[in-house]
Formats: sequence, structure tokens, C-alpha cells
Amino acid sequence: MGHFLMQNNCNNHAKIEKWRSPFPCKKPSPNLSPYIEPDGLTHQIRTMIIDFTQICKTYDKKIYTKECFSATPCPKCPAIGRFKMYGSYLRYIVYFAEGKLVHEQIELKRIMCKSCKSTHAVMPGDLIPYKLLSLFVVMLLLVACIVDETPVLRVAQKYELSFQIINIYLAAFSLFANRIHQYFKERLPTHTPPATDRKSVVALIKKPYTIFQCGYVKLNRRPCFMCKFLDGAGAPPIGIHAPRGAAT
Ligand SMILES: [Zn+2]
Repeated sequence: MGHFLMQNNCNNHAKIEKWRSPFPCKKPSPNLSPYIEPDGLTHQIRTMIIDFTQICKTYDKKIYTKECFSATPCPKCPAIGRFKMYGSYLRYIVYFAEGKLVHEQIELKRIMCKSCKSTHAVMPGDLIPYKLLSLFVVMLLLVACIVDETPVLRVAQKYELSFQIINIYLAAFSLFANRIHQYFKERLPTHTPPATDRKSVVALIKKPYTIFQCGYVKLNRRPCFMCKFLDGAGAPPIGIHAPRGAAT
């Protein structure tokens, strides 16, 4: 699928943007239709629950049963653990495994809260809502371009990505740089230098990156690098999956 991202024109990029959205157009084209409806109803995903015990590489919708969510709070209402399984949908993603980028569609589990009837996509912890690239890939690009100062074109060539998509993620990082610095200042005040330049901020984020993302979501109620809704009201609530036995 590498060629998919090598296309350097806007139309193709627009297609990619469409693919990655868990909120489909009301009338998706026959070629897109990423949804598998359990009951034939047209139902739109409204919110997400992030499972930080999984990453894209390990994610398998078959591992989930309703018992898995017995301690998980609903992101939309006060109910805890009142979910039923509600089908799945396909999501296009790019993640990093065995030294290379993997372009894949994964089937994301969807669950419904029996109390408020809202449906939630269950996402692996390294998947950034509305973004094509996984968190690890984003960090790989940021480290290469900002910390190592490798030219964007060379990074694009190495990972077979378009330079435009890399620039999109560099721009996303710029939007979040102050918030990321703020997060570390609150969490680790004595270990966070005052410098807020791009290189210093990227260096604050250490592996495993999902630990950072989990803390960031808890503090900010939205994942780092999730840009949609950044400038407006109405961002869907983001929940965190609590495995059985975890404190809620
Ligand atoms: Zn609910």
C-alpha cells in the first residue's frame, strides 16, 4: 500500500482524509463503506474509548466481550460497564512493526452503552482519533525531522510517505507543543526544563509513547495530536477502557 501515500496530489490526500474518519459521510461512496452493521441500521460512531492495553499491532476485535468492559465508564453518561457489543468497522491505519511501516485496515470493535444508547469505537492506545498514522509513527517522524534534523524529503523517501503528510504532522505537533510542555510541567515539574523550543519538547516524550498518551488523555480529556475539533466546540468525549479489576 506504500504507493497509496506516495501520491502527491490533493485529491488523493482528500481520499486518505476521508478514509481515516470514523465519522463517515452520510452517503459514503460504494468504494468507501467502511462500516459493518450488525443489524442493518445506519448508525454513526459518536465517541471513542481508548484501550491502552492494546496497540495497533496487537489489536484484535475478537478479544473483546461485554465482560471486558465491566469496569469501563461510559464517556457520555455516568454508567459504568453497561455495554453491549455492537459490531465493528474498518479503519485504515499506518503503524510501525518489524522495522517498517505497515499499511493496513483493522476492524475496530464497537460497543453500545445500554444506559444512554451511544455507540463507541474501541481503539488501540497508539491510534490517534482522525489520524492515519499511529502515535509511534508520528513520534518517529518528529524525532527524525525535529530532533535529528533530517530533511523532510529524506524522511519521506525513507518511509515511503508523501512529504505533505509529514508536514501535516509537523504542523499538528506545533499546535500541541505548548500543551505537551504544560503536561510535563504538571506531571514532572522537577524534570521538565523550561525550554519550549520544538526539539526540547519532542525530547520530553519518552517511550513507551502510549504511557504519555494515556496520561495526556486523562489530563486533557482528548488525545495528543488529535486536531479535529481543536478550534471549535463539540469534540466527542474520549473514554479510557478500564480492564476488569482496575479502579475507576
Ligand atoms: Zn452511556
